[in-house]
Amino acid sequence: MGFKDKKREREYKNAWARRDRKLHPEKYRKARLAYAEKHRENNKRYRDKLKRENPEEYARRNTAVSKRYRNKSKKNRGRVRVINKKAHIRFRRNHQEECRKKSREYNRRSKKRAIQAENKRKRMEWLIKGDVTRQQLIDLFELHNDSCHYCGKRIRKPNFSPLYLVGFDHKTPMSRRGRHTIKNIVPSCINCNSSKNNKTYSEYMKWIKNVRDPALSTISGPERG
Ligand SMILES: [Zn+2]
Repeated sequence: MGFKDKKREREYKNAWARRDRKLHPEKYRKARLAYAEKHRENNKRYRDKLKRENPEEYARRNTAVSKRYRNKSKKNRGRVRVINKKAHIRFRRNHQEECRKKSREYNRRSKKRAIQAENKRKRMEWLIKGDVTRQQLIDLFELHNDSCHYCGKRIRKPNFSPLYLVGFDHKTPMSRRGRHTIKNIVPSCINCNSSKNNKTYSEYMKWIKNVRDPALSTISGPERG
């Protein structure tokens, strides 16, 4: 086979090689790996030498290579997505009942999360509407000798944030139309806070007396009632 025109010959050979690479990618991959393996030592020596003698060029090549890989993976991303999508569809077909159950669960959970977020938002709105100050909380805490209003246990010093309100409890909770004012707040330990939940003050006092621990109801905290 002969081309008189060297340029045309090169073009022909290149086109052939391109087609061959496309047709037998595995063969070329293997050849590439074998070549790299065969020249591994040499390559390493060359790289080390370059790094030592011309670190700028070494860095430039490194970034060029990583850039090339990045572009390649970017190019492949769409393809991978299609493959994944197909696998996903296949999986759903083969695991129908399981997938339905999972998606039901996911929906339920996300609904629950949405409700929780809405409640949190409402509570924050309510807290902002109140007029409680940090100093009022500090004074109230001191007045109660750093103790829970309900059970008398000492409480670790809270951070006294009027909008965070850990370590305190609303006597009449938001859900029972209470207001976020200092008159409606008492220091409270976590246990009492969670067992009071959304009971009103008198409901909770009754509950303590009759249900939780009749002995505790005899402890008298300041300003109880
Ligand atoms: Zn308590």
